[in-house]
Amino acid sequence: MVNGLVSGRLALVTGAGSGIGRAACQVLSREGATVIAADKNYDAALETIKKYTALASGSNATGDHTALELDVSDPKSVQSLLQAVLKEYKTPPRIVVNSAGITRDNWLLKLSEEDYDSVLNVNLKGTFLVMQTFAKAMTEASIAGSIINISSIVGKYGNIGQSNYSASKAGVVAMTQTAAKELGKFNVRVNAILPGFIDTPIVKTVPDKVMHNMLKLVPLGRLGEPTEVAEVITFLSSDKSSFISGAAIDVTGGF
Ligand code: NAP
Repeated sequence: MVNGLVSGRLALVTGAGSGIGRAACQVLSREGATVIAADKNYDAALETIKKYTALASGSNATGDHTALELDVSDPKSVQSLLQAVLKEYKTPPRIVVNSAGITRDNWLLKLSEEDYDSVLNVNLKGTFLVMQTFAKAMTEASIAGSIINISSIVGKYGNIGQSNYSASKAGVVAMTQTAAKELGKFNVRVNAILPGFIDTPIVKTVPDKVMHNMLKLVPLGRLGEPTEVAEVITFLSSDKSSFISGAAIDVTGGF
């Protein structure tokens, strides 16, 4: 694509093997970006590149896109990812989307320390590690970048059974606002998106009865599609949002 919103830009997407991350790869590539799909599940990331990116449509070719294995909660894995990207593309990405995330739901009174730690390690520390590593690379290369962190609407309001998850997502918003303040002088924008209930594997764990009651609170009366979040990710990646930084944007159908 010659005139896409993000033509010619290199984009890193974490959690790219599923859901919102996969849709981000799809829409960013449709708008002309070269996509690096990174996920704990390498095969799923490769499937994203082969089946969902624009250059790959209609063939098995991967174009200039790449799939890489990544555990966002492991500093060594994040460093290896940066080295692999620099080796392959000779430049850090201009766009970084932090979409990797997990849930380990339980009542506050029953939540294990292990499940608390694992959610905070992936959702909050993982976002920190990727953001710090790639923002550093962007500033050293004098790249005007855009970082998009996927938080959640429950980070604003809380949610039954999700004290660990909602805390991690509230942390992502606060960290995004702080990073925006620190990185603005390097021309790096940092924004957060707070999705509501989006139709991906992560919401399949929510019991039907709970989901039914939740949907009553959504004025648009339905789950969101992953691409409806990906379109906002792509807008925030592009020059159309050139004066937006430190924002936290709800994508919830009005919830
Ligand atoms: P998803 O379909 O489960 O996708 C998340 C992806 O992240 C999966 O491919 C997962 O791999 C991967 N991942 C998990 N741990 C990782 C790690 N340590 N390092 C690298 N990759 C890892 O979920 P989604 O709905 O697209 O969620 C994407 C983001 O949006 C998450 O941050 C989520 O919290 C947020 N969000 C989702 C919703 C929603 O309703 N769907 C609402 C608000 C916010 P495995 O499958 O192998 O674990």
